Order: sequence, then C-alpha cells, then structure tokens
Amino acid sequence: MSDSSTVMFEKVAFIGLGLIGSSLARVIREKNLAKQIVASTRSVQTLLDAKQLGLIDVGYSNAAEAVQDADLIVLALPVQATQTVLKTIKSVLRADVIITDVGSTKANVVDAAHAVFGQNIPTGFIPGHPIAGSEHSGIHAGKVDLFAHHKVILTPLANSDQDALNKLITLWQAADAEVICMDVQQHDEVLAHTSHLPHLMAFNLVEQLANRKDNLDIFRYAAGGFRDFSRIAASDPQMWHDIFFANKRAILEAVTGFEQQLKQFKDVIERQDSQKLMGMLGHARAARQHFNHMLANNPLMEKQTVTQQFRILPGTQKFVGKFTVPGDKSVSHRSIMFGAIAEGTTHVTGFLEGEDALATLQAFRDMGVSIEGPKNGEVTVHGVGMHGLKAPVSALYMGNSGTSMRLLSGILSAQDFDTVMTGDPSLSKRPMERIAKPLRLMGAQIQTTGEKGTPPVSIRGKQILQGMHYDLPMASAQVKSGILLAGLWAQGETSVTEPEPTRDHTERMLRAFGYEVKTEGNKISLTGGGKLTGTRIQVPSDISSAAFFMVGAAITQDADITLEAVGINPTRTGVIEILKQMGADLSVENQRIAGGEPIADIRIRGTQTLKGIHIPEDQVPLAIDEFPALFIAAACAEGQTILTGAAELRVKESDRIQVMADGLKTLGIDCTPTADGIVINGKGKIGEWSTIFTGGEIESHHDHRIAMSFSMAGLRCAAPITIYGTETVATSFPTFTQLAQQAGLNLEAS
Ligand code: NAP
Repeated sequence: MSDSSTVMFEKVAFIGLGLIGSSLARVIREKNLAKQIVASTRSVQTLLDAKQLGLIDVGYSNAAEAVQDADLIVLALPVQATQTVLKTIKSVLRADVIITDVGSTKANVVDAAHAVFGQNIPTGFIPGHPIAGSEHSGIHAGKVDLFAHHKVILTPLANSDQDALNKLITLWQAADAEVICMDVQQHDEVLAHTSHLPHLMAFNLVEQLANRKDNLDIFRYAAGGFRDFSRIAASDPQMWHDIFFANKRAILEAVTGFEQQLKQFKDVIERQDSQKLMGMLGHARAARQHFNHMLANNPLMEKQTVTQQFRILPGTQKFVGKFTVPGDKSVSHRSIMFGAIAEGTTHVTGFLEGEDALATLQAFRDMGVSIEGPKNGEVTVHGVGMHGLKAPVSALYMGNSGTSMRLLSGILSAQDFDTVMTGDPSLSKRPMERIAKPLRLMGAQIQTTGEKGTPPVSIRGKQILQGMHYDLPMASAQVKSGILLAGLWAQGETSVTEPEPTRDHTERMLRAFGYEVKTEGNKISLTGGGKLTGTRIQVPSDISSAAFFMVGAAITQDADITLEAVGINPTRTGVIEILKQMGADLSVENQRIAGGEPIADIRIRGTQTLKGIHIPEDQVPLAIDEFPALFIAAACAEGQTILTGAAELRVKESDRIQVMADGLKTLGIDCTPTADGIVINGKGKIGEWSTIFTGGEIESHHDHRIAMSFSMAGLRCAAPITIYGTETVATSFPTFTQLAQQAGLNLEAS
C-alpha cells in the first residue's frame, strides 16, 4: 500500500476529518507517510466519503477503537471536544504514541490534557496549530496544498519528547509548511490579536450592517474594500463560537485595546484634528507597508526571512546615462530625528525611502510624533519639541540600521521614559558599547543586553545628564553624533574630539535647525538646554550610492555616467579623491549649496588609466562606506592597492574586509586581507580592456554594499556572477537594480 522508504508512521488515527484533518490526511496519503490511515468522526457519512476519496483505510464511530495501536493521533475537531476525546482514548494509548491537534487555541487544549492525564501527560503530546484554512469546512473542502507556504505553530510542553517533536516538524514540512515553536501562552496572545480579533471585527461589522433596515442597499452597493474586510465573517460559526470562549482572556484584552484605539479615531474625527488623524493614518499605513519586512525579521518568524539574489551576465555593451541616485541616508535619518525634537514643522524633500531611514521614521512615530509621508521623497514632520516625545508602547525596532540605534541611544538617554531598541539579526551582532560607554559617563543608564555588548539596547529614562568632554577612541560619526545629541539635554557643555574628521552632517544640520555648534579643529562642542526650530531640508543624493556607479564607469570601456545633485560634504568625498589618485577620469561639476550641504554633479568616463595606490590614511574615514566599491576598482587597476587604518570595516553590516577578500578571490583576484585593511594585486593593464573577473558565486552576507560592489564587477566579468543575499540593497538604494539596468548592466534580480 505504501512505499516503505518514506513511511514515518505505522498507523495514523484522525479524530475529526473536516477541512484541516482531511487536508493533512491528503498529504500523508499522497506522500506515503503512513502504512495505515484511520479516522473517527461524528457522522458516518464523513467516514464513507473519506473512504471513497481514498483518504482512510478504516473508519470508526468510536475514537477509542480508532486509536488502537496508532503511533500518531491527530485531533482535528473543534477544540471544545478535546477533553471528551482524550478521556475516551486514554486507556488504549500506545506508550510511544504521538498525540497532536490542530486547534486554533492552545491553552484550553493543554488544560484538557491536564484534566484527563493529571501530571502524567504523555511525552508524545505536542499541541499544534496550522495557520492556514478557509471559510469552508468539511471533508470536501480539504486540499493537499492547504498548508503549503503557511506556518504551523507547535507548542511543545516542558516534558515533551524531542524525537516526537522532530517527527511532527518533519510531518508538517512534508506538507510544505514552515514550522515555528513557541509556548502555549504566547501562541494564544499572538493569535488573539492577529486572527481572533480580526474575525470578531468582521463578524461584528457584518452583524451591524445586517441589522440595519437598509441592509439590502448597503450590501448591494458595497465596494471591494467591504468584500475584502468581511470575507472571514463567512467562517464556521460553531468553530468561532468555540474559539472565542476557548481563548476568552486574551481575546477580551485584544477587544479592549481595539475599543481604546477606535475611541481615539472617533475623538480626532469629532474634533476635526486633521494633523493628528493624518499622523495616525500615516502611522498605520507605514506599519502595514513594513509588515512583510517586520515579519521577515520577527524572531518568531525567523524561518521566513526573504532572500534575493542578483545574477550578472558578461557582455555589457554600454554603461552610460544621467542618473539621480536616492537621497543621502545619513541626512535622511537626521532630518527626521531633528525635525521630531524641533519646535514647529519641518519639510523634507529627497528623503531616502529605504528601510533604514524608514526605521528611524517609524521609531519617532512610535514615540508619538506625527509625520506625513514619505511620498515621492517628501516628508512633513510635526515637531514635538525637546520634551515632547512619548514612551513607545513596545520596543523600538531599528531593522538593519546602526545609525538609528547609535544616534537614538543619545536622544533616548535623555528622555523621561524607559526604552528598548532591537534590530534584525545583522544589527544584533554590531557593537553598541562604543556609544553606551560615553553615554554612561554623562549619567545615562544604558545597557547593551546582547552578548558581547550588542543589541538589544535598554535605556532607563529620567536621568539627569552632565555635559563632558570625550576623546573618541575611533573615528565614528555615529558615536560622535550620539554623544552630541545627548548633549542637547545635558547640563553645561558637551564636547567631542575625533582622531580624524568624520561626517559632520549632525553638526551642519543642528545649525540648520538653529542650534549653535562650535567646531575648533577636531573638537566639536555644544551647550545643552537650547531648542531646535523646524526648517526645510533638501536631502542631497547619497555619494555612497553614487560610488557604485562611479566605480562602474571608471572600469568600463566607453562608459560615461553623470550622477546629479550628489552631496559632496568634504567629510564624505574620500571616494572622489581616491578614484582621482588612482587615475580615474572624474570631474565634479556645477557645485552649489542645498540645505546647508554642498552638492554637485559628478561625471565619470571609462578610460583604462587606473593604477594601484597606497590609500592615504587620512582619506579612510572620508570614504569608509565606499571601500567595497573601491576594492572592485583596485582589482581592475594596474599594480598593487594597499589599504591600512581601516579596522572599522570589520564591524560594519558584515566584516567587509573578509567578505570582500573572499568574494574577490572567488572571482580570481589575488588579494590578502590584513588586520586593518587589505592588499589587492590589480589585474588591469593601463590602456587595456580585458576581462578582469572570472564568474562565480558570491555570498554578500546580506550586506547591501557588498552586493552592489560585486554587481559592478559584472561589467568586467568573463562568466556570470551570482550574488546571494541581495535583499538588503533596498535598505539604502531601493532603485539600484532599475538604474543599473538602465545604464546597461546585464543584471537580473530574483
Ligand atoms: P470542520 O471542517 O468542521 O471539521 C471538523 C471535524 O471534526 C468533522 O470531521 C467533524 O465530524 C468532527 N467532529 C466535530 N465534533 C466532533 C466530536 N465531538 N467528536 C468527533 N468528531 C467531531 O472543521 P475544521 O475547519 O477542520 O477545524 C478543525 C479544527 O481545526 C478546529 O479545532 C479549528 O479550530 C482548527 N482550525 C481550523 C481552521 C479553519 O480555517 N477552518 C484553521 C486552523 C485551525 P463530521 O465530519 O462527522 O461532522
């Protein structure tokens, strides 16, 4: 009857064989996972149908008979019936039996098991819940692919057997489901909010409208939105009746939260508070847009992380065009932060709608700041002043953004409420003590609660900060900025001396917001207690994003690329200086000032004149983010390029020295990573346009700049290059693929 190589179970007994049970039975049957499948249901007809459909070998009207000798029992019936069924089958269970269920609530299933087995719940008892289904019920509604690409939550108990758990995980994976384990209480709370409350709301709305006299008209003229929202009100009333009682406590809490939120909407509409309403709607919309990203990075949903890859084919014919790359990330972050704590309104244009800057935007919305947009790069921030931020209801999620976490550490240390900041798996590995330490010297109560001084970062509010002088041990604009921002609330003067000049966007923008900041040599200082005034900020195009196209053009025959309105803040122009020193044909044209920041158009043409250089150490902090791209230029240059004094690169989104060295070697480049840099033996010859890179597979370690740099290697490759983990490109350069293709790069994203 079955192929013994795939058989996992001798006998599977279903108690209940409706939508969910019969779908799982279909999987077990199709994949030959059991020697025998039996079932017990309420009605005889279901058993007859099951036999006719070939889903079961034998049907029983008595559950105790069905489970005799079964090594897997699946309870696939309404949760309220669990206790009665367990009582019926208790005395005939095999010692090594696995018992699972599919019920939508879990605490009451475990309570039922306790009621029947006392403290001796079988170790094979592991409740479960497939997060899949439909508004149809019964055996004929079942489908073999019902669970495919859906999640299944398993809620093992303290005494659950690991082998049994592993077997259940394998079973659900055979149904193409993604399995997540969590505890019973967490399951019920999460589901109360994400499933039970929405169903209750749908039933409630339809009930409200159905009770109106004009209900015929209402339903007749209802638009698509109503149909989408109310679809789930067609679900089985009996099942939902059971669920609402079974998960009563968590559902009532969710309903209370809903009533409070609804009341807030009602109030602002009544008061015609347009700003507040826009803020609330905008906040909800942004949260919804972030939904996929948040899910992908939710530890509960870890298995769901979305990944992407680039494939670049050789034979690019041209690399030309005029492009405007997205707004500067550093300036975008700061425009929101400073706008939020300023008095009055700040209008931002050219805002980078990448995930990092959006994480900052979301954090301030979570702290009660009303922000409109972003829409086509425009954002309006209604500042709440230096003392207007409110406690967020839960941890602030910073995604992949180190800038957000480090700068916000300074701001949050001075607030009168506690906060916790978390991040995605990559940010969770990055060092935060470098900012926590100096902030503690100012009186902040800040803890890095991850291993090795990494996130989450936990901050106690209501501390009085003291101004201080701090000698930065490393050239880090983020740490400098975090300290200066804390200094805005500190008593007296706060000053920082940096070993090398780093990006001064914080200083420039504070001045644009009317806050006095002094700079004497490498020392920057400000005095706490002042205020910021809302202003207009035009975010320049990001030189770090422009750098990929600059390098791409510099290494490509007949290339001619112009990048418009790029920020050329002198603390960021290392890449221009280094490329020029390497011999690139690069000109900076049409220089002007916008929003306190210098900008220009940058034109680069491909002339194979690149030569290796020893990169001057004073340029390192001014080009720190551009080195992955510059390494690609170095590989195409004639002679050796040596980088020293760049240990900082090892603690960026990835260890950029190692990851680049690994990738370059894969593509046939001779290079040696060192503790604080790299030595690259360029393969190029001045005046020659031969291919430089072999093809190969590159692991970007989900680092956006690594992914974009190796994409440019595709302009001089002999065979296809595949780059894995490219989904993070959207964090800083959402239009990268599109612009690179427009310029002529033969790149496919999938
Ligand atoms: P269904 O299609 O209505 O099927 C229920 C099955 O249970 C039927 O075979 C029914 O027998 C049997 N049954 C009912 N009461 C019984 C009793 N007292 N003793 C023995 N058998 C009994 O329901 P379903 O949608 O598969 O839901 C089953 C479970 O899955 C529920 O606990 C529900 O919470 C959970 N769940 C449902 C969904 C969904 O979208 N529907 C999603 C996830 C989880 P007859 O066929 O003879 O009537």
